[in-house]
Amino acid sequence: MSSILRAVVGDITTLHVDAIVNAANRSLLGGGGVDGAIHRAAGPGLLEECRKLGGCETGDAKWTRGHRLPAKFVIHTVGPVWRGGTQGEADLLASCYRCCVEIASELGARSIAFPCISTGAYGYPREEAASIAVSTVCDTILRYPAVREVIFCCFSEKDLEIYQTLLNADSER
Ligand code: ADP
Repeated sequence: MSSILRAVVGDITTLHVDAIVNAANRSLLGGGGVDGAIHRAAGPGLLEECRKLGGCETGDAKWTRGHRLPAKFVIHTVGPVWRGGTQGEADLLASCYRCCVEIASELGARSIAFPCISTGAYGYPREEAASIAVSTVCDTILRYPAVREVIFCCFSEKDLEIYQTLLNADSER
């Protein structure tokens, strides 16, 4: 049986899934956007745990517990800053999605929710980022079938539309 991939609009901090992904920065010590929202909702215990991780390289991911979040785990990944597309951004973004699915599987998480990594402050073009997100997750999930459900948690109707088009096209392949 294959895993379910779907897109929703909402605040990722409210989702009842086993793991949510944080679009963090390399310090892993909190920031704006979705990172700030996750730290606020999880409470100070999250920052305390993050301090012990020693930061994270771009394209890589590290996990913590979810603290006060409904999600049991937070997988912190560092997306690339968009610099015009010639600085390995696509490979780094794909690596984020791949690492997160791998970690989710190691943690025994059956469900995982992603924000639109790098598309806020880091400026990655939305369509290109979504296309990498969907294709990378579709490929990776085949190797990690214990991860049953992947949610792309959009923060705007525009992003939802982009993801739904990609997911529909994919299911027709
Ligand atoms: P980055 O630095 O990786 O670009 P941002 O947090 O600035 O990260 O933005 C990443 C995406 O997360 C953007 O599409 C933004 O609209 C979205 N976002 C911001 N807050 C939330 C939230 N609470 N839940 C889900 N997505 C969010």
